[in-house]
Amino acid sequence: MEIKCGTGTEELTLNCFEICRRQVKEACDALDLEPAAYEILKQPRRVMEVAVPVIMDDGHVRNFVGWRSQHNDALGPFKGGLRFHPDVTVDEVKALSMWMTFKCAVLGLPYGGGKGGVRCDPRGMSRGELERLSRGLMGALAPITGPERDIPAPDVYTNPQIMAWMVDEFSRLRDYNSFGVMTGKPLLIGGSAGRNEATGRGCVYTCLEAMKQLGIPVAGARVAIQGFGNAGSVAAHLLHQRGARIVAVGDSCGSTFQAGGMDPAALADHKRRTGTVGGFPTGTPITTEQLLQTECEVLIPAALENQLTARVAGGVRARIVGEAANGPTTPEADVILFDRGVLVLPDILASAGGVTVSYFEWSQNLSGYYWSEQEVNQKLEWAMVRAFRTVYDMSQERRIPMRSAAFMVAVKRVADAMRVRGWLGPA
Ligand code: GLU
Repeated sequence: MEIKCGTGTEELTLNCFEICRRQVKEACDALDLEPAAYEILKQPRRVMEVAVPVIMDDGHVRNFVGWRSQHNDALGPFKGGLRFHPDVTVDEVKALSMWMTFKCAVLGLPYGGGKGGVRCDPRGMSRGELERLSRGLMGALAPITGPERDIPAPDVYTNPQIMAWMVDEFSRLRDYNSFGVMTGKPLLIGGSAGRNEATGRGCVYTCLEAMKQLGIPVAGARVAIQGFGNAGSVAAHLLHQRGARIVAVGDSCGSTFQAGGMDPAALADHKRRTGTVGGFPTGTPITTEQLLQTECEVLIPAALENQLTARVAGGVRARIVGEAANGPTTPEADVILFDRGVLVLPDILASAGGVTVSYFEWSQNLSGYYWSEQEVNQKLEWAMVRAFRTVYDMSQERRIPMRSAAFMVAVKRVADAMRVRGWLGPA
């Protein structure tokens, strides 16, 4: 299936790596850290570039370029997803690996941050081509990967099947089963109950906590969601279940609005049949910008980076923005939203449900004892609510945006670990 669609409100031209560095620098300054902390944090520890030759179904060879960025491992092994996307760049992967370091730290997980990306369009590739790409990629990354070294997971356009091929390839290379090398696996080979839904579910837990805080009832609350992939569709489903109205949804091919709310199951069905939620029969077609500016209680950006830009932010009419995507809001938009009193739940908090259940999955793999879905969801809720409270309280105390507070909490934890390990020099 060949689908050619846009990436959202703007091309991904804003450099996320520079944005991320600025966020870290601000936190280091606010915490009054020794200069060595930013000196180390401003750069990933290692970035590996790989080229993966794949024999395509028609017999010709295509060489796919990709990267794995390992940002910081002061708190534990590098951890983070692998994305397959035609527009991935090395700077994007570096930024995403940096965000992972702080995402894991906000949640208090024993991990550092990593991220990978391969330039390809999986929507136009056959299953066989995808399998050969995934196995080739694992072959290339194997020397720097492992349950105690770097643990990849699903991200944009990658899924449990791709994780399964990669685990199989790694296990074949090592000559023993190593399920803990990847997370987001199918249940049959060491996956965790609840992992698939975890990013959307974690985002919903933080949104519910924020609504409680602002005194907004969930029943009848209007919700707009940009992105209807793994995170967005689950968030829609869970909020709908709790009585919220999904008034606007969109993906890279189209967006739709319906004041009375839409049924996420019907939306998912429509997307399965047509490839997009745009054109939903009872909805009114809208643009991505209109979607982001829908009048609602909760807006959930669940697509790619740099969607809420300065141009869009002035017209946002949500009380809460729950970032299920990585890096959806630019720093300029952040300032505008803060001034307008919109409560932004930052990505390194609100999108952390996935990696939190990845941690549960990995620890189940290492111990060989598996938990029920109910147990996983309870522990996820507890972890998300605890992190929300820590960040929210700090943001209130200091009168700063939740993103700044989240970075301060996270950067402090990483810096403390680096200090005690002796990386920051003499005290
Ligand atoms: N790709 C997800 C993220 O950006 C999950 C990462 C993981 O589970 O390691 O948080």
